[in-house]
This record gives sequence, structure tokens and C-alpha cells, in this order.
Amino acid sequence: TPRIFSGIQPSGGLTLGNYLGALKRFAALQGDQAQTIYCVVDLHAITVWQDPETLRRNTREATAAFMAAGVDPARSVLFNQSQVTAHAELAWLFNTVARVGWMYRMTQFKDKAGKNSENASLGLLAYPALMAADILAYQATAVPVGEDQKQHLELTRDIAAKFNHDYKVEHFPITEPLIEGVATRVMSLRDGTKKMSKSDPSDASRINLTDDADAIAQKIRKARTDADPLPGSIDGLKDRPEARNLVNIYAALADETPDQVLARFEGQGFGAFKPALAEVAVAAMSPITAKMSEYMADPAEIDRILGKGAERASEIATPILERTKDIMGILRSR
Ligand code: ATP
Ligand code: MG
Repeated sequence: TPRIFSGIQPSGGLTLGNYLGALKRFAALQGDQAQTIYCVVDLHAITVWQDPETLRRNTREATAAFMAAGVDPARSVLFNQSQVTAHAELAWLFNTVARVGWMYRMTQFKDKAGKNSENASLGLLAYPALMAADILAYQATAVPVGEDQKQHLELTRDIAAKFNHDYKVEHFPITEPLIEGVATRVMSLRDGTKKMSKSDPSDASRINLTDDADAIAQKIRKARTDADPLPGSIDGLKDRPEARNLVNIYAALADETPDQVLARFEGQGFGAFKPALAEVAVAAMSPITAKMSEYMADPAEIDRILGKGAERASEIATPILERTKDIMGILRSR
């Protein structure tokens, strides 16, 4: 059976962007068509500073979010990255395949490293090689992600292709990105040109999966918008990124198309739209928030689930890693 892999960093509390762009789709992809493997990628998170106690908590909370969003540890393999050592080992092998220039071209590195990129961690630069290892350790063929990860997935394909070419094998698949739906790039509530991120310093820029109904309503009320009425179709929002973002969020939450949403709000302003959006958002998110806190009440159970998932993941990844070493001529005598 084909394998689907994806991950989320425990680099902060998860956001509505993570839910719509990733978690909601992870749950929907579970089934008989493919084996789904989902990972809390803690080794990625530490490429920027994480307070140790907070990282542990965020790792459990991200796991709770996966399950609250419908990822079932009985139907999917669910674990945290660092407990399966094949990821880090294969990443090292890929560090010898990938080229430095490929890494410098990554827009996420440029964004996260900022102006003083000489001072970024070496891990932040090598991040995409670890991501390629996450995926290819399972020979996964499809990866559901948000739009922002497209460039990294292209690099994963480049690494797989160069490995296969250099060693004259057909060992690694050329992975397909699954970037689908109207919420593949949920934007910041404060700035329609920036994506919503859990690591954004401004809490008002995002809706957290742990926000209560009041916080959600208040953030939507304060979200940046313009003063114009809404048009009858999404084409009319080309030059209005903030407005387009809110309409897309509504559509994704209500499982409608943006045009269906706009058909009801045509001619109305944000005074009418924002309270309606808040209502839809609270209705969709509050059951998830409630389930997350139920799971978080039993951290030992979360740890048990992650341990079990890691065992299953290792069973898949270890033979693939060993075969990779054999291909490269790395001697194994036990
Ligand atoms: P960070 O700011 O620490 O990078 P993040 O919010 O970008 O956090 P990631 O853990 O990097 O979250 O990404 C997890 C998944 O969520 C990826 O598939 C990514 O594409 C998706 N994702 C992240 N932000 C958004 C967004 N604003 N809209 C849609 N998908 C998103
Ligand atoms: Mg990110």
C-alpha cells in the first residue's frame, strides 16, 4: 500500500492554519487507500531555540491536537520524530547528497534566519534534508502540507532523484505534494501578506487551537480588513488579501466554496461578516479545543501512544535505512 507522511513542529501552540492546512486533511486521508504516518517533528522544532519544559509540553499538546482533529492512533502511525532514530541517521546521509546552494535558496531559511543569517543554527539551514529523511525513511509517495512547504518538498524530490542517480538505483520514490483546498495558506489576521504561524510573536495574528470562544471572537473582530462591501464572487477579492483570507477561512471551516459563502454576504460589510465568521469558527473549533484538553489531562497516556507509534514507525523505517546504507557502501557487520 502507498504511504502518506506528514508532520507538525511542536514549536508553539498549534493554529487555525495548522488545522485547516494540515490536521483536518490528515484525518480525512486515513483509510484503506494508503497507510498514514503522522509525526510531531521535535528535531525540527529545535532548529530555533526551545525552552526544554515548553518543548515537552508542546510535543504532548501537538499529539493531543492530532487526535482531537480525528487522527486515530489505531488507524495511523502517530509518534514524535526523535523517538525513531532513523530520521536523524538518514538526514545525515542526505546531508552528503544535498548541496549547500540548495539550502541557501530556501525561503523559509531566509525568513527564519532573518538579517543575521550567519548566526542561525546549522540545523535551520539543513532543515530540508531532515524533512526529506522524514518522508523518505518510509518511502512515502504523498505528503499533505500547506502551500509554504512546497519548496521543501521540491527539495525532497531533488534529494531522492540525486541519490537514485548517483547510486544508479531506484530506491527512493519521487514524492508528490498534496496541497489542496481553499485553506492551503491561511494568512495572519494582522497582515494579509504574511502566513499565520504558531511562532509569530503576535498572538493577535493567529487563532490558537487552545483559544476559547471569547478569544476567537475578539481576534476575528480585531482582524485587519478594509471598509468595502463584499463582492458576489472570490474573483472580486484579488486585490484585498485580508478580506480574501477571512472568506477563505469561513469557506474552509464550513466546508463550502468561497463563492457559496460570498453569495450569501454579497453587498454586506465586515460588520456583518465578522460575527458570522466568529460563530462558524467557534462551532468548528470548540469541540477540538475541548478534546485537546481532555487528552492533555492524561500526559502519561499521550506518552504511551507516542511510544507505541514510534515502535511501529521504526519497524517500517529501519529496513529502509539499512538498505540505504548498503547501497552507499556503509559496512554493517551486525
Ligand atoms: P512555525 O512558525 O514554527 O514554522 P507553522 O505554524 O508554520 O510553525 P509548521 O509546524 O511549520 O507550522 O507546519 C505544519 C504544517 O502546517 C505544514 O504542513 C504547513 O504547511 C502547515 N501550515 C503552517 N502554517 C499554515 C498556514 N498558515 N496555512 C495553511 N497551512 C499551514
Ligand atoms: Mg512553519
